[in-house]
Amino acid sequence: MRKPIIAGNWKMHLSLQEASALVNQLKGSCQHDAVDVLVCPPFTALSTVAQLLKGTRIGLGAQDLYWEPQGAFTGEISAAMLVDVGCRFVIVGHSDRRQCFGETNDMVQRKVKAALSSVLIPIVCIGETLAQRDAHQTFDILTQQLSALAVLSATDAQKLMIAYEPVWAIGTGRNATPEQAQEAHAFIRQWVAKQWGAEVGERVRIQYGGSVNAANAASLLAQPDVDGALVGGASLKADALSVIVKAALEAKAVPR
Ligand code: PEP
Repeated sequence: MRKPIIAGNWKMHLSLQEASALVNQLKGSCQHDAVDVLVCPPFTALSTVAQLLKGTRIGLGAQDLYWEPQGAFTGEISAAMLVDVGCRFVIVGHSDRRQCFGETNDMVQRKVKAALSSVLIPIVCIGETLAQRDAHQTFDILTQQLSALAVLSATDAQKLMIAYEPVWAIGTGRNATPEQAQEAHAFIRQWVAKQWGAEVGERVRIQYGGSVNAANAASLLAQPDVDGALVGGASLKADALSVIVKAALEAKAVPR
């Protein structure tokens, strides 16, 4: 049984004051034994949020990292720096980074390796654009993006989390249907199983991301291969995130 995981990607939002207020609300409504919950604030809020999350069940992640351990890389942040500030997770290869900052599969591979060689768990984002989906290239694109991970050992691969985020669904208010999400997640799981064996395939958690909100979370999370959600816009509101976390609890409850 894979433990469901709900991650909030705050992107480039929230002042320190707003971030603190949101975390204090999440502490009241989003802590459960049966669901992993984490937030990924901008770099500037990591330290403040880390202090507020001490002693809670809510995890901390960053939105990106650089692969070199240190040096003259102005503006960049290393894996060790993220660990130092209290992160356990890091988003890698988000479509914002691929589209706005030219991040390639090769760069994603270097970042994933850097994360894993520290103690960070990478959340690797993959997904097709609308033009690619319309041209029936979804599985080819997912395969290309997944191939950045093929160099990993099975031991490292089982630590990964993968987020299927169709680009056309991110921040657009148009989510994938539960069937579209399940189809892509099953494909990703099969790819993982083929690469590293059935046990790793069963273990790796695959999150869906793309306009997840309080209204659609339950039907998406009810899909057997959807192990959680990477939530952007709705993660900035404590009441919406808490409904999504509860939907994960209910969808993935172990039958007695
Ligand atoms: C995201 O930023 O990863 C995301 C899925 O955003 P949204 O939920 O706003 O579509």
